[in-house]
Amino acid sequence: MISKIIEPKILSLITTEKCTAACHNCCFQCSPRLKQRMSLEDMKFLIDEVIKDFPMILACVFTGGECTTLGTDLHQIINYAAINNLKCRIVTNGHWAVSESRALLFLKQLKDAGLHELNLSTGDEHQKWIPYDRIVYACQAAVKLEMFVAVNIESTPESKFTSVSMKSDDRISREIMLGKVVVKDSLWIDFDKEHLDRTLEMNDGPCINLFNTISVSPDGHLQACCGLTCKNSIYLDLGSYRKHSLRQLYIEQFDDLMKLWLYTHGPKKIYSFLCEKKGVANESYRYPHICSMCHHILENKENMDIIKANISSIIPSVMLKYQFINNLKT
Ligand code: SF4
Ligand code: SF4
Repeated sequence: MISKIIEPKILSLITTEKCTAACHNCCFQCSPRLKQRMSLEDMKFLIDEVIKDFPMILACVFTGGECTTLGTDLHQIINYAAINNLKCRIVTNGHWAVSESRALLFLKQLKDAGLHELNLSTGDEHQKWIPYDRIVYACQAAVKLEMFVAVNIESTPESKFTSVSMKSDDRISREIMLGKVVVKDSLWIDFDKEHLDRTLEMNDGPCINLFNTISVSPDGHLQACCGLTCKNSIYLDLGSYRKHSLRQLYIEQFDDLMKLWLYTHGPKKIYSFLCEKKGVANESYRYPHICSMCHHILENKENMDIIKANISSIIPSVMLKYQFINNLKT
């Protein structure tokens, strides 16, 4: 459909479904009970494929679930990625940081293996499983090791623990002020409250998560995005790398008008278009996040039928904007 694809910049390995926490509304529904994980050989194979077929990728993110449950395999794969010139980041709930000294020891070993960046997750739901103090110890240790550290705090309008709570914690506020620890509130979807009767600010622009990451799930499927609802979407599942090459699976996305439309205009514009065609009220404010709106668009057959029926009027503006964005990027 298009002549020039957008090259991804990041490899994201969803290494395991296992987690030391079991947060209600975890977008991947991870828990200590789940076992599926990537083997060391699988992860090495994926890194080899990316080095060969995606030369623009310079960073590798190890996430989950809780990637540190991989134990020494995590050290080995970080080392493997690092010697292949990929900058390595882990995303973790910080369960291992039971004291500052233990956190320092743990992180030092990962840094020696090649870890470049630490990304911590916390918030009201996480703290039911992992005490907040561990986030502080992990940050203090990372700062001592001069490692970049970011903390994502799950955020809903009802959140009690927010970035303000952390910024006012004397143990770490100075490092936050100096920019050594970056703290940000990240929208958290209450999946059990599908529609919310309140107004929320939502990104009404394009989806910036498409076409920038090779994201692979523990069962070996390439995912179109790391969006909060992607696990439940057959549509965003691009297929198994065991059947086709990563490159082929990635490139095939560019034949799909829906993904291009999400990328150029975003879920909110598509939702408005659908409401207009159906002649129903636009209630976009009821969705807590663009990913939940996206999920509802993609999983509804009537929506897809409307889009198919109007394809010739949609294509020109999508193609024009795609080319415009692509020209800006190159
Ligand atoms: S810590 Fe993260 S991966 Fe683990 S259950 Fe909570 S949200 Fe899911
Ligand atoms: S808006 Fe849709 S395509 Fe974009 S990240 Fe969210 S779920 Fe994925």
